[in-house]
Amino acid sequence: MKHWTERIASDLTNWDVEKHVVASGTSISGSIHIGNSCDVFIANAVGKSLQKLGEDSKTIWIADDHDPLRKVPYPLPESYEKYLGIPYSQIPCPEGCCENFVEHFQKPFLETLPVFGIDLETYSGFKMYQDGIYNDYIKKSLERAPKIREIFNQYREHPLAEDWLPYNPICNECGRVNTTTAYNYQGNTVYYRCQCGHEGEMDIKSGNGKLTWRVEWAARWKIFGVTCEPFGKDHAASGGSYDVSKVISKEIFNYRAPYPVPYEWITLKGDAMSKSKGVFFTPGQWLEIGTPETLNYFLFRSKPLKHKDFDPGMSFLDFIDQYDRVERIYYDIEEAASEKEMEKLKKIYEVSQINMADSAPFQTSYRFLTVARQITDDLEKIFQILKRNSQLSEDMEGMEYTDLDEDAKIRLGSRLENVENWLDKYAPEFVKFNVQETLPEVQLNEMQEVFLLQVADLLEKNDYNSQELHDQMYLILKELGLKPQKAFQAIYKVIIGKKQGPRAASFVLSLDKDFIIKRFRKEA
Ligand SMILES: [Zn+2]
Ligand SMILES: [Zn+2]
Repeated sequence: MKHWTERIASDLTNWDVEKHVVASGTSISGSIHIGNSCDVFIANAVGKSLQKLGEDSKTIWIADDHDPLRKVPYPLPESYEKYLGIPYSQIPCPEGCCENFVEHFQKPFLETLPVFGIDLETYSGFKMYQDGIYNDYIKKSLERAPKIREIFNQYREHPLAEDWLPYNPICNECGRVNTTTAYNYQGNTVYYRCQCGHEGEMDIKSGNGKLTWRVEWAARWKIFGVTCEPFGKDHAASGGSYDVSKVISKEIFNYRAPYPVPYEWITLKGDAMSKSKGVFFTPGQWLEIGTPETLNYFLFRSKPLKHKDFDPGMSFLDFIDQYDRVERIYYDIEEAASEKEMEKLKKIYEVSQINMADSAPFQTSYRFLTVARQITDDLEKIFQILKRNSQLSEDMEGMEYTDLDEDAKIRLGSRLENVENWLDKYAPEFVKFNVQETLPEVQLNEMQEVFLLQVADLLEKNDYNSQELHDQMYLILKELGLKPQKAFQAIYKVIIGKKQGPRAASFVLSLDKDFIIKRFRKEA
């Protein structure tokens, strides 16, 4: 069974090229999030698959940093509106910490890529213009403007003006690039009008302008020899950017358009990610709460055009449970529902890995750690809590924390760190608790008090696992004629001063036994 990224790579092996270039690109219009950086992850996976198939291949990333600012990104102040229409490359760093706006937003993104095992050559659209890499393509596009206009018009309702040119100079007066119209050219000189009232001329070799997007995209394919490129589905619409650039690539630049991999946007809790509204989630934010492999898994578990929604709240715990299950299936610790499911899940797991472990990595339940971590931050104590709650595999039963190998310690430590961040940033209030050092002032009825006393007696005499304690507590509450909800409320009230909390039996076992017995007897 092939993963979809492998199927693309395998299709590409039929192309008669010396080397494959898988391209990705991102508009630097604000923070780069998991939605608009999808193509980087897909491009990297396809590139790696190509290499596995013995093909020469590289992955490139182009920052679309010469495009005009269209909306002020979150969290920049309104004062940035004065830069609307100005190329990102010409806007200052909002916090004065970097060379400019572009560096400010692309740096955090590029810095996370090695963690994801993503290795790519990076290019700046702005620099490409400055360095004259587009010069021949600009000249050719100006010469072939009538043909390009004709191609564009095939997809347009309202035809372009007769003197339209596929090039936008940056206005010498107001600095904007989306307000200028080039209407004539001679040699390397382009004549333009700007909405600000300025009329001017500029030299295409100065780099102070850019090709119309669809022409630029096609030019870029040929410049880099791109053979495959993932892109957001907005470019993939019928008659959209890809369709038009494909024709231009062939007709104007005599180059075969790359293998397209359109992908669906990722929504955040049902909302479209928006850099201007501040609705986004970045790969860096992901790494605070999960491993890089889990983001890969999120992106690769379904086909690229399948809708994906991300919710870092409670659903994230379900998501991690699912990932852990797939990991156990991969290492034959757990069985999948069917042979077919097993094959599929193993493949997705494999594609998501950055460095494949030889044997099943040490696993602890993320969900369980969200409880344990609120009881203590001491690793050895947490290990004890895991043991008392049968959270470890059988072969680890006799082990202490210090017996763990280095890899297991690192995994436990980093998962705890992820859990801490999740609790801090995304956990809903109802999962948060604080074990009260002294008995909180709470009202219990007589039956609830008797219930706690009887549980305390049992705990004093026995060593239970969580299922056994759970069963014992049910026997007691039934005998007392107490509703389960009321009984468990009593437990939460005296320990954390709240009416609800984590699963009661396992929670009780997670805490120090002497402490619990005393607390249930109101002695501490
Ligand atoms: Zn900065
Ligand atoms: Zn102007």
